[in-house]
Amino acid sequence: MANKDIKNLVRPNLLTLKAYSSARSEFKGRADVLLDANESPWPTGRNRYPDPLSTELRQALGAFKNFNPDQIVFGNGSDELVDQITRIFCNAGDAVHALPPTFGMYKVAAGIADAEFRATNLAPDFTIPVEELKASWDDRSKILWLCSPNNPSGNAMDSAVLEDLIRTFPGIVVLDEAYIDFVPELSFLPRLEEFPNLIITQTLSKGWGMAGIRCGAAFASPFIIQMLNTIKMPYNINVLTTGVALEALSKPEEMKAKVSTLIEERKRLERELPKLDCVEYIFPSVTNFLLIRFKDSDKVYQHLLDNAIVVRNQSYQPNAANCLRITAGLKEENDRLLEALRTL
Ligand SMILES: *Cc1c(COP(=O)(O)O)cnc(C)c1O
Repeated sequence: MANKDIKNLVRPNLLTLKAYSSARSEFKGRADVLLDANESPWPTGRNRYPDPLSTELRQALGAFKNFNPDQIVFGNGSDELVDQITRIFCNAGDAVHALPPTFGMYKVAAGIADAEFRATNLAPDFTIPVEELKASWDDRSKILWLCSPNNPSGNAMDSAVLEDLIRTFPGIVVLDEAYIDFVPELSFLPRLEEFPNLIITQTLSKGWGMAGIRCGAAFASPFIIQMLNTIKMPYNINVLTTGVALEALSKPEEMKAKVSTLIEERKRLERELPKLDCVEYIFPSVTNFLLIRFKDSDKVYQHLLDNAIVVRNQSYQPNAANCLRITAGLKEENDRLLEALRTL
C-alpha cells in the first residue's frame, strides 16, 4: 500500500483537525522564567506540565530499539493506543478485524467507535487461517489487529504469514508486540519502513515490569505518528511515568535479566505441569505465561482460588475450552502453584 492511500483511510474530519496547542509549544528560544502555563513555581520535580511529545523518552526508547525517535508516540499504556488508532481510522460502520482468542481491548475499542468487530477465530493450534481471514475483509475494512506473540495463546505467528497479511490487507495493520521483550528477535520493528500501513505497538508493562506506570509505544510512518499526535491528549504521559521509564530504559540489563528468569520459570512450569493428572495439554509459549488445557478447568480454577492463587479463566474463548492462562511468577509463587495443583 502506498503512503497516499493511508491518508484515504483516515476519518476525513481529522485530516484538518487542529491539535491542542500547549503553552510550551508556542515559543522557540531560551526559557529561564516560565510564567506561561499557570503552574505553581516551586520546583518539586512535578510542578511543570510534561512535554506533550515526550522528546527525551522517545530518544531513550529509540536508542534502545535502534529506531527513529520521530516515528514513536507514547500512550497511557498500549490500551490507549488501541483506542486512538481505532478512532483515527474508523467511522461508525467501518470494520475492524481480529483473530480470537486474543487481547480483549480491540473489540472494546471497536465498540466505543461504533465500528463493526469482525472475528476470524484462530485455528485450534492458534495459527492464522489465512484464506478465511482474507475472505472476511472488504472495502469497509479499516484495521486488522495482529497480536504476536498472541495473548492468551502464547505462540508467535509465522513471520511469512504476518508479512503476507500486512501486504494484502486493504487498510491499517496493527501488530501488537506486547510480549516482544521475551522474543526480541521476532520483532517486525527493523522492517517497519517496508510497510507504510503497519503500526507496531509495544509496552513497558510486561517484560519491562512496569504495568503500573502505564506506558506503551506505537511505531509507525511519520504521517501516522502525526495523526496520533493530533488526536492524543497533550499530557497523556505524565512526569512521574516519564521519570520511571527513563530510569528503567537506562538499565536494559536489568530488564533482560528478569526476562531470562521468567523464561526459565515458564520452562520449569512446562516441565512440571504435565506430570499432574489434572493437566491435559500445554500450548507452546514464547512469553511469560502459559495457556493450559485442564481436564476440568472450572474445578482447577476454584481450587486455586481456594488456595488464594488467581489465574485467568479463558475457557469461554474460541478454541480454548477448559483452558486457564497462568502467568509465570517468582520461583516461590510458581512452587506454590505447583503444590496447590498437586493437592487437587
Ligand atoms: C498486556 C497487553 C497489552 C496491554 O498493554 P498496556 O501497555 O499495559 O496497556 C496490550 N496487548 C496485549 C496483547 C497484552 O497482552
